[in-house]
Amino acid sequence: MDPQTIVAVDIGGTKIACGLVTLSDDKPVIKSVEKVPTCAMEGGAHVLATVIEQVKAAVERAEGPLAGVGISSAGVVNPRTGDITFANELMPGWGGTALGAEVTAATGLACRVLNDVHAHALGEARWGGGRGAQSCLVVAVGTGIGGAFVERGQIMLGAHDEAGHIGHVCCPAAAGVPCSCGATGHLEPIAAGPGIIREYVRLGGDETYDGGKPMDGAEIDRRAAAGDEHAQAAEARAGRALGEVLGSMVNMLDPTCVILSGSVAQCGRWWSDAMEDGFKGQAMPPVAGTPIVDGELGGDAPLIGAAENFVRSGYAEVAE
Ligand SMILES: [Zn+2]
Repeated sequence: MDPQTIVAVDIGGTKIACGLVTLSDDKPVIKSVEKVPTCAMEGGAHVLATVIEQVKAAVERAEGPLAGVGISSAGVVNPRTGDITFANELMPGWGGTALGAEVTAATGLACRVLNDVHAHALGEARWGGGRGAQSCLVVAVGTGIGGAFVERGQIMLGAHDEAGHIGHVCCPAAAGVPCSCGATGHLEPIAAGPGIIREYVRLGGDETYDGGKPMDGAEIDRRAAAGDEHAQAAEARAGRALGEVLGSMVNMLDPTCVILSGSVAQCGRWWSDAMEDGFKGQAMPPVAGTPIVDGELGGDAPLIGAAENFVRSGYAEVAE
């Protein structure tokens, strides 16, 4: 394809990143990324005004023609219309924003919008760890767990544009543990970062370190490597639970590969060995060799995915 430059925006609960992404047959090129605070508590209208300001500033920084605007946003997104159909209490008033139409009205540029987890997954599947793969299960494990299934460059959206909530899948080790969604027994509260810290403290590990800093995942990982048995056990429980769910999902979806990203996926062997054991224990023989690979795009994944969605999306009607 001829190179196309897209204004790409990533709207999260704490910051908005906006830059210029050029897609061609080669590696995506990202330039001129600016980040500003979202100030989500000031309401949806304020966030929208900030987004429009950032897009206009990026248009000014562009040196050549622009194809349009690709946006990755927190909240439930209808990618056919570019509307935010729901957002939680961390972004009050963001749900109901006609984001794509408003950006187009303000800038004159066509715009397509995708949920941020879906955009991350699309970026990794098309241009990162899944490059060349026909289908990918993409899972990000950090303070929460997000996931998406991408086949032939298309995100599986589901009936409510909500598909991919792998953090809210039942797993045996989580039996009885309450989840942020209101249910009990889900993967996220035991396999995401805060669950590892809770388990470490429950086993008798320190709640703080270094003169009062609250315990964090990176410190637990250091302690696991240094021989702290509570840290090793907390990481192993989380890794095993994730691996078991990944094995189950691979039985269901049979992806070409699984892509893992996020801070927890950086943990050392106590976590990764348990994750692989959990996976092998659940995956059926024909899919047991499915590669589990690292994400490659880091924080750039949502911007690249948003640009990719603009250029190649098969389901979005472009707001003109
Ligand atoms: Zn849940």
